Amino acid sequence: MENKPSILLTPGPTPVPEEVLRALSQPIIHHRTEEFGKLFETLLADLRYCMRTKGRVLALTSSGTGAMECAVANLLSPGDKAVVHATGIFGDRFVEIVKAYGLNPVVISEEWGRAASPERLAAALRTHRDAKVVFVQHTDTSTGVVNDLKALSAVARAESEAVLVVDAISGLGGEPLETDLWGLDVVLSASQKGLMNAPGLSFMSVSDRAWARVEKATLPRYYFDWRAMDKSIVDRETPFTPAVALVAGQVAAFKLIREEGIENVWKRTLELARYAREKGSALGLEMFPKDPCNILTAFRLPAGLDGKKLIQDILREEKISIAGGQGPLAGKIIRVAHMGHIGKPDLDAGFEALAKRLPVPASLKGSPSGALKGSPAGA
Ligand SMILES: *Cc1c(COP(=O)(O)O)cnc(C)c1O
Repeated sequence: MENKPSILLTPGPTPVPEEVLRALSQPIIHHRTEEFGKLFETLLADLRYCMRTKGRVLALTSSGTGAMECAVANLLSPGDKAVVHATGIFGDRFVEIVKAYGLNPVVISEEWGRAASPERLAAALRTHRDAKVVFVQHTDTSTGVVNDLKALSAVARAESEAVLVVDAISGLGGEPLETDLWGLDVVLSASQKGLMNAPGLSFMSVSDRAWARVEKATLPRYYFDWRAMDKSIVDRETPFTPAVALVAGQVAAFKLIREEGIENVWKRTLELARYAREKGSALGLEMFPKDPCNILTAFRLPAGLDGKKLIQDILREEKISIAGGQGPLAGKIIRVAHMGHIGKPDLDAGFEALAKRLPVPASLKGSPSGALKGSPAGA
């Protein structure tokens, strides 16, 4: 028990493969050198591969929220109109950042557990034709939904001049995403979720259409100025000291993704999602989202069960981290990740820990095998 390794089933940070841990622990090199330049160039090329773009990509030392703030600071000017189509906590975060910069966003709030509606976005843009930016999530990690980015992008193009900003902080890697094909202007991500690295780096792709805005935008920016980042890339550098170890770690993680092939990673993640849902359903757990993503599953807990205590007990007694609900969903749902380096044995351990602590579902009562084994009777 004492030496049992801990298992992360949380939707960030996620487990980091051995190869990446080794790269993270290499001696630190200086960032204005040929050696770092090569590493950084590889990182950007790999990022293009994962994001499926031939366009401009940037990398920054910050968590994912830094990339979200970048998008606001670099694309908008005082008085500009921005639309946020929110599907959970992370949509609300865009609202907060836009407000922090003194702007008043138009907010479309989707019922939690449902994907963003292209029809509602179209209607909002018809009323607000002068919108400059539309913000959406790829996967909203707080509710476990995936948005139809292709449809949302088509609507944004048809109804407005707005550029579309996609928060793919948890979605990139695990969930299919086609930056160029779907016309996604800005895609944001971070190192610690599907990309299998330690936390601390964020990533952005910026289309030419969006770049024209970046040049003209007048909100204040300094550390987060995309123009400075872009300028340094010519010299294969970053404007300020980057998290050198994390860059090495990310290159090692991208190598694994390239070896497997991004489309195979998507497929494997979908299979794991199905596996997790079967496991949950066998325990009588109902899936929370109506439009579920592949990178994590949110399950509704039986009424009356203390979800916070459940995950605290599992962490203390089994060294397994499972995420609870955020905001209004705190204590009511659990979220089990199946992205990045998380595999079936991790999920097995997590669901076994849940099975020990959850009441036997009504559908299985009286069956001698109980909750630990079987498929849901009558399902
Ligand atoms: C994790 C996450 C964020 C926030 O990222 P940090 O790295 O914690 O700043 C934003 N959006 C989504 C969808 C996320 O999953």
